[in-house]
Amino acid sequence: MSTVLDLKGVEVCYGRVEALRGLDLTVGEREIVALLGNNGAGKSTTVSTISGVVRSRAGSITAFGDDITSATPWSIVERGILHVPEGRRIFSRLTVHENLQLGGYTVRDNAVIDKRINEVYELFPRMAERRGQQGGTLSGGEQQMLAIGRAMVAGPRLIMLDEPSMGLAPLVVAQVMEAIVAINQAGASVLLIEQNARAALKVAHRGYVLDSGRVTVTGPADELRADPQVVEAYLGA
Ligand code: ATP
Repeated sequence: MSTVLDLKGVEVCYGRVEALRGLDLTVGEREIVALLGNNGAGKSTTVSTISGVVRSRAGSITAFGDDITSATPWSIVERGILHVPEGRRIFSRLTVHENLQLGGYTVRDNAVIDKRINEVYELFPRMAERRGQQGGTLSGGEQQMLAIGRAMVAGPRLIMLDEPSMGLAPLVVAQVMEAIVAINQAGASVLLIEQNARAALKVAHRGYVLDSGRVTVTGPADELRADPQVVEAYLGA
Protein backbone atom coordinates (compact mmCIF):
# COMPACT_ATOMS: atom_id res chain seq x y z
CA MET A 1 0.00 0.00 0.00
CA SER A 2 1.41 3.39 -0.89
CA THR A 3 1.48 6.21 1.64
CA VAL A 4 -0.72 9.20 0.82
CA LEU A 5 -0.02 11.24 3.93
CA ASP A 6 3.19 11.28 5.95
CA LEU A 7 3.83 13.45 9.02
CA LYS A 8 7.34 13.38 10.44
CA GLY A 9 8.28 15.01 13.72
CA VAL A 10 5.56 17.65 13.50
CA GLU A 11 5.65 20.22 16.28
CA VAL A 12 2.98 22.87 16.84
CA CYS A 13 2.83 25.53 19.54
CA TYR A 14 0.11 27.99 20.43
CA GLY A 15 2.15 30.56 22.31
CA ARG A 16 3.59 28.56 25.17
CA VAL A 17 1.23 25.58 24.76
CA GLU A 18 2.97 22.73 22.96
CA ALA A 19 0.05 21.05 21.19
CA LEU A 20 2.08 18.62 19.03
CA ARG A 21 5.47 17.43 20.22
CA GLY A 22 7.05 15.54 17.36
CA LEU A 23 4.12 13.73 15.76
CA ASP A 24 4.76 10.87 13.33
CA LEU A 25 1.72 9.61 11.48
CA THR A 26 0.95 8.03 8.11
CA VAL A 27 -2.18 7.25 6.13
CA GLY A 28 -2.00 4.70 3.35
CA GLU A 29 -3.91 4.69 0.10
CA ARG A 30 -7.56 3.68 0.70
CA GLU A 31 -6.89 3.29 4.39
CA ILE A 32 -9.15 4.44 7.24
CA VAL A 33 -6.95 5.62 10.10
CA ALA A 34 -8.45 6.52 13.47
CA LEU A 35 -6.88 9.26 15.58
CA LEU A 36 -7.97 8.83 19.19
CA GLY A 37 -7.25 10.66 22.40
CA ASN A 38 -8.74 12.64 25.22
CA ASN A 39 -9.71 16.31 25.17
CA GLY A 40 -6.70 18.46 24.44
CA ALA A 41 -4.54 15.58 23.15
CA GLY A 42 -3.87 17.44 19.89
CA LYS A 43 -6.25 15.69 17.49
CA SER A 44 -7.86 18.82 16.02
CA THR A 45 -4.48 20.53 15.86
CA THR A 46 -3.18 17.61 13.79
CA VAL A 47 -5.93 18.04 11.21
CA SER A 48 -5.69 21.84 11.16
CA THR A 49 -1.95 21.56 10.58
CA ILE A 50 -2.39 19.13 7.69
CA SER A 51 -5.02 21.54 6.23
CA GLY A 52 -2.51 24.39 6.36
CA VAL A 53 -4.65 26.44 8.76
CA VAL A 54 -2.18 26.02 11.62
CA ARG A 55 1.57 26.21 10.97
CA SER A 56 4.06 23.71 12.33
CA ARG A 57 7.32 25.01 13.78
CA ALA A 58 9.22 21.81 13.04
CA GLY A 59 8.80 18.59 11.09
CA SER A 60 7.43 17.84 7.63
CA ILE A 61 4.14 16.90 6.01
CA THR A 62 4.07 15.07 2.69
CA ALA A 63 0.86 14.34 0.81
CA PHE A 64 0.59 12.38 -2.42
CA GLY A 65 4.34 12.69 -2.79
CA ASP A 66 4.50 16.50 -2.43
CA ASP A 67 5.84 18.46 0.52
CA ILE A 68 2.84 20.45 1.80
CA THR A 69 4.41 21.62 5.07
CA SER A 70 4.19 25.27 3.97
CA ALA A 71 1.39 24.99 1.42
CA THR A 72 -1.64 27.29 1.60
CA PRO A 73 -5.02 25.92 2.75
CA TRP A 74 -6.39 26.58 -0.74
CA SER A 75 -3.69 24.58 -2.51
CA ILE A 76 -4.17 21.76 -0.01
CA VAL A 77 -7.89 21.58 -0.82
CA GLU A 78 -7.01 21.65 -4.52
CA ARG A 79 -4.91 18.54 -3.97
CA GLY A 80 -8.04 16.73 -2.81
CA ILE A 81 -7.35 16.95 0.92
CA LEU A 82 -10.65 17.85 2.60
CA HIS A 83 -11.38 18.67 6.21
CA VAL A 84 -14.86 18.17 7.67
CA PRO A 85 -14.57 20.27 10.82
CA GLU A 86 -15.97 19.60 14.24
CA GLY A 87 -19.39 21.13 14.72
CA ARG A 88 -20.13 20.59 11.02
CA ARG A 89 -20.38 24.26 9.97
CA ILE A 90 -22.90 23.88 7.21
CA PHE A 91 -24.64 27.00 5.90
CA SER A 92 -27.85 27.01 7.89
CA ARG A 93 -29.76 29.49 5.68
CA LEU A 94 -28.91 27.66 2.47
CA THR A 95 -30.72 24.56 1.26
CA VAL A 96 -29.21 21.09 1.27
CA HIS A 97 -28.65 21.36 -2.48
CA GLU A 98 -27.01 24.79 -2.25
CA ASN A 99 -24.71 23.54 0.52
CA LEU A 100 -23.65 20.66 -1.72
CA GLN A 101 -23.06 23.01 -4.66
CA LEU A 102 -20.74 25.10 -2.50
CA GLY A 103 -18.69 21.95 -1.85
CA GLY A 104 -17.64 22.21 -5.48
CA TYR A 105 -16.04 25.64 -5.20
CA THR A 106 -12.65 24.35 -6.32
CA VAL A 107 -14.18 22.31 -9.15
CA ARG A 108 -14.31 24.18 -12.45
CA ASP A 109 -16.61 21.86 -14.39
CA ASN A 110 -20.30 22.17 -13.40
CA ALA A 111 -21.10 18.79 -14.92
CA VAL A 112 -18.62 17.19 -12.51
CA ILE A 113 -20.26 19.01 -9.60
CA ASP A 114 -23.72 17.77 -10.65
CA LYS A 115 -22.45 14.22 -11.05
CA ARG A 116 -20.90 14.25 -7.58
CA ILE A 117 -24.01 15.76 -6.00
CA ASN A 118 -26.00 12.89 -7.52
CA GLU A 119 -23.53 10.45 -5.98
CA VAL A 120 -24.10 12.09 -2.59
CA TYR A 121 -27.86 11.71 -3.07
CA GLU A 122 -27.37 8.03 -3.90
CA LEU A 123 -25.27 7.50 -0.80
CA PHE A 124 -27.60 9.54 1.42
CA PRO A 125 -31.17 9.20 0.09
CA ARG A 126 -32.20 11.32 3.07
CA MET A 127 -30.33 14.27 1.57
CA ALA A 128 -32.11 13.79 -1.76
CA GLU A 129 -35.47 13.86 0.01
CA ARG A 130 -34.49 17.07 1.77
CA ARG A 131 -32.65 18.83 -1.03
CA GLY A 132 -34.85 21.95 -0.73
CA GLN A 133 -34.76 22.12 3.07
CA GLN A 134 -32.67 24.74 4.89
CA GLY A 135 -29.50 23.23 6.33
CA GLY A 136 -30.11 24.70 9.76
CA THR A 137 -33.38 22.79 10.14
CA LEU A 138 -31.80 19.36 9.60
CA SER A 139 -31.24 17.04 12.55
CA GLY A 140 -27.72 16.68 13.95
CA GLY A 141 -27.12 13.43 12.08
CA GLU A 142 -28.46 14.90 8.84
CA GLN A 143 -26.20 17.94 9.21
CA GLN A 144 -23.25 15.61 9.65
CA MET A 145 -24.24 13.73 6.49
CA LEU A 146 -24.54 17.05 4.65
CA ALA A 147 -21.08 18.11 5.84
CA ILE A 148 -19.62 14.81 4.63
CA GLY A 149 -21.56 15.10 1.37
CA ARG A 150 -20.28 18.64 0.82
CA ALA A 151 -16.70 17.40 1.19
CA MET A 152 -17.42 14.60 -1.29
CA VAL A 153 -18.43 17.12 -3.95
CA ALA A 154 -14.91 18.53 -3.84
CA GLY A 155 -13.64 15.10 -4.98
CA PRO A 156 -11.55 14.12 -1.95
CA ARG A 157 -8.57 11.84 -2.25
CA LEU A 158 -8.04 12.19 1.51
CA ILE A 159 -10.89 13.18 3.79
CA MET A 160 -10.27 14.20 7.40
CA LEU A 161 -13.26 14.11 9.72
CA ASP A 162 -13.13 15.82 13.09
CA GLU A 163 -15.39 14.04 15.60
CA PRO A 164 -18.23 13.19 13.20
CA SER A 165 -20.08 11.23 15.91
CA MET A 166 -20.17 14.09 18.40
CA GLY A 167 -23.61 14.64 19.89
CA LEU A 168 -25.29 11.96 17.80
CA ALA A 169 -27.50 9.08 18.98
CA PRO A 170 -25.90 5.60 18.64
CA LEU A 171 -28.03 4.63 15.66
CA VAL A 172 -27.07 7.83 13.84
CA VAL A 173 -23.40 7.30 14.74
CA ALA A 174 -23.65 3.91 13.03
CA GLN A 175 -25.10 5.54 9.89
CA VAL A 176 -22.36 8.15 9.79
CA MET A 177 -19.71 5.42 10.18
CA GLU A 178 -21.34 3.48 7.32
CA ALA A 179 -21.10 6.61 5.19
CA ILE A 180 -17.39 6.89 6.01
CA VAL A 181 -16.86 3.30 4.90
CA ALA A 182 -18.76 4.06 1.67
CA ILE A 183 -16.56 7.08 0.91
CA ASN A 184 -13.51 4.94 1.57
CA GLN A 185 -14.78 2.18 -0.70
CA ALA A 186 -15.35 4.80 -3.38
CA GLY A 187 -11.58 5.43 -3.29
CA ALA A 188 -10.77 8.05 -0.63
CA SER A 189 -8.33 7.61 2.22
CA VAL A 190 -9.74 8.66 5.59
CA LEU A 191 -8.29 10.21 8.74
CA LEU A 192 -10.99 9.84 11.37
CA ILE A 193 -10.69 11.83 14.58
CA GLU A 194 -12.86 10.46 17.32
CA GLN A 195 -13.39 10.47 21.03
CA ASN A 196 -15.80 7.60 20.38
CA ALA A 197 -13.00 5.04 20.11
CA ARG A 198 -15.37 2.12 19.97
CA ALA A 199 -17.19 3.42 16.87
CA ALA A 200 -13.97 4.53 15.18
CA LEU A 201 -12.10 1.25 15.73
CA LYS A 202 -15.00 -0.68 14.22
CA VAL A 203 -14.48 0.95 10.82
CA ALA A 204 -10.77 1.87 10.91
CA HIS A 205 -7.98 -0.30 9.55
CA ARG A 206 -5.38 1.27 11.82
CA GLY A 207 -5.27 3.74 14.64
CA TYR A 208 -3.17 6.10 16.72
CA VAL A 209 -3.73 7.17 20.31
CA LEU A 210 -2.49 10.68 21.06
CA ASP A 211 -1.68 12.00 24.49
CA SER A 212 -0.32 15.50 25.10
CA GLY A 213 0.73 15.89 21.47
CA ARG A 214 2.53 12.55 21.17
CA VAL A 215 1.59 9.10 19.88
CA THR A 216 1.37 6.68 22.80
CA VAL A 217 -0.07 3.63 21.05
CA THR A 218 -0.42 2.71 17.39
CA GLY A 219 -1.28 -0.40 15.43
CA PRO A 220 -3.97 -2.22 13.47
CA ALA A 221 -7.50 -1.49 14.74
CA ASP A 222 -8.07 -5.03 15.99
CA GLU A 223 -4.86 -4.86 18.04
CA LEU A 224 -5.90 -1.53 19.54
CA ARG A 225 -9.28 -2.96 20.46
CA ALA A 226 -7.46 -5.63 22.46
CA ASP A 227 -4.75 -3.37 23.93
CA PRO A 228 -5.25 -3.18 27.73
CA GLN A 229 -4.16 0.48 27.83
CA VAL A 230 -6.63 1.43 25.10
CA VAL A 231 -9.41 -0.66 26.61
CA GLU A 232 -8.94 0.92 30.01
CA ALA A 233 -8.62 4.50 28.82
CA TYR A 234 -10.96 4.62 25.84
CA LEU A 235 -13.20 1.59 25.57
CA GLY A 236 -14.40 1.19 29.14
CA ALA A 237 -15.48 -2.04 30.75
P1 ATP B 1 -10.72 17.91 21.77
O1 ATP B 1 -11.04 16.47 21.69
O2 ATP B 1 -11.12 18.50 23.09
O3 ATP B 1 -11.18 18.71 20.60
P2 ATP B 1 -8.02 17.78 20.72
O4 ATP B 1 -7.34 16.49 20.94
O5 ATP B 1 -8.61 18.02 19.38
O6 ATP B 1 -9.12 18.01 21.84
P3 ATP B 1 -6.61 20.24 20.31
O7 ATP B 1 -7.84 21.03 20.08
O8 ATP B 1 -5.75 19.91 19.17
O9 ATP B 1 -6.97 18.89 21.09
O10 ATP B 1 -5.75 21.01 21.41
C1 ATP B 1 -4.44 20.61 21.80
C2 ATP B 1 -3.90 21.61 22.84
O11 ATP B 1 -3.68 22.87 22.23
C3 ATP B 1 -4.86 21.87 23.99
O12 ATP B 1 -4.09 22.00 25.16
C4 ATP B 1 -5.53 23.16 23.62
O13 ATP B 1 -5.92 23.88 24.77
C5 ATP B 1 -4.44 23.88 22.88
N1 ATP B 1 -4.99 24.77 21.85
C6 ATP B 1 -5.74 24.41 20.77
N2 ATP B 1 -6.03 25.48 20.01
C7 ATP B 1 -5.46 26.55 20.61
C8 ATP B 1 -5.40 27.94 20.31
N3 ATP B 1 -5.97 28.45 19.21
N4 ATP B 1 -4.73 28.74 21.18
C9 ATP B 1 -4.12 28.24 22.27
N5 ATP B 1 -4.13 26.94 22.61
C10 ATP B 1 -4.79 26.10 21.80
